[in-house]
Amino acid sequence: MSGLPQIGILALQGDVVDHVRAIEAAGGRPVPVRRASELDAVDGLVIPGGESTTMSRLLEVFDLFEPVSKRLDAGMPAFGSCAGMIMLAEEVLDGRPDQRSFGAIPMTVRRNAFGRQVDSFEDEVPLEGVDGGPFRGVFIRAPWVERVGEGTEVLGRVGGGRRAADTPDGRIVAVRAGACMATSFHPEVTDDARVHRYFVDMVRRSGAGQADERNEGAPE
Ligand code: GLN
Repeated sequence: MSGLPQIGILALQGDVVDHVRAIEAAGGRPVPVRRASELDAVDGLVIPGGESTTMSRLLEVFDLFEPVSKRLDAGMPAFGSCAGMIMLAEEVLDGRPDQRSFGAIPMTVRRNAFGRQVDSFEDEVPLEGVDGGPFRGVFIRAPWVERVGEGTEVLGRVGGGRRAADTPDGRIVAVRAGACMATSFHPEVTDDARVHRYFVDMVRRSGAGQADERNEGAPE
């Protein structure tokens, strides 16, 4: 591959700037994506946090839903944080009836799952495949993963033991399925770039540089 992997950051809404900084720190080249033509140049896509109902609507307004969906179906790697996790899910609970998601990760997520009292909290999340100790998870009106389907690997959980008697192992907050991964929390608001580095490595391994090849063949 030539140069750094080009990582699109879906920039319709949400915490785009922090992901741009984190992708740079992780050794990727961030590319804000607001229209379908900008999608052609990327090797992978970050779907930031924000508000999944709004994001779903804006994706349609900007004619981006189908193009993103097509790239995901074709195997484009993606990383969704918080609302981005919801956008990648196969099934969304407590969503709005008209909200759409890409179904790129076989899982069921529940929106705003941690409840009112704990709208926001931080906790240590040990992550499978991420060395260097637990990750400081920042959760903001976060979803959790209620069910993982076939092919979806659990990377991290939070709140097990006495804090969650109904789920002694804790709630699933980080997953991966093939080239897609998602976290309930916001790694981009910390100075720790390990989760973004994990994603950039995934993109590299998936054959980044394909964007260059696609562009070479594409008409002007
Ligand atoms: N609660 C938001 C939603 O449903 C997600 C919150 C976030 O991304 N910080 O989309």
